[in-house]
Amino acid sequence: MTKIGIIRCEKNETTCPLTGCITCLEQRTQGFKSYDAATLAGIFTCRCPGDNVVNLAKILKAKGAEVIHVATCLFANKVDGKWVLEGDGFCEKHEQLLSQMREATGIPCIKGTAHLPEGYSPEI
Ligand code: SF4
Ligand code: SF4
Repeated sequence: MTKIGIIRCEKNETTCPLTGCITCLEQRTQGFKSYDAATLAGIFTCRCPGDNVVNLAKILKAKGAEVIHVATCLFANKVDGKWVLEGDGFCEKHEQLLSQMREATGIPCIKGTAHLPEGYSPEI
């Protein structure tokens, strides 16, 4: 059973309650399809300019997270009803945040949760 932490962006914290992220984790689809079994360790919200994200990742690890996923909307955009990789999603610095989280925690920090853009598969 892999314990998974999720970090989402503040930009949609009042419009998306992570329904898709949680459903995909529970059903092990989309960004979570590689896991044989998975459970949610916790969810945190990043706040601009992202200075809090390393601390959030450390806390998720301390709470048992073995892997951290950042929500798909950080790096993908919805265009004409389809999620695509073009553009930066909500966060133009998501790669930098992921690197900082990996360095600080030593656990895998992965791009993607729900509704992955066509052609993208997370490397787990
Ligand atoms: S990835 Fe989708 S379901 Fe998850 S927080 Fe972003 S918009 Fe909501
Ligand atoms: S730094 Fe990026 S992920 Fe964090 S709140 Fe700002 S836009 Fe969202």
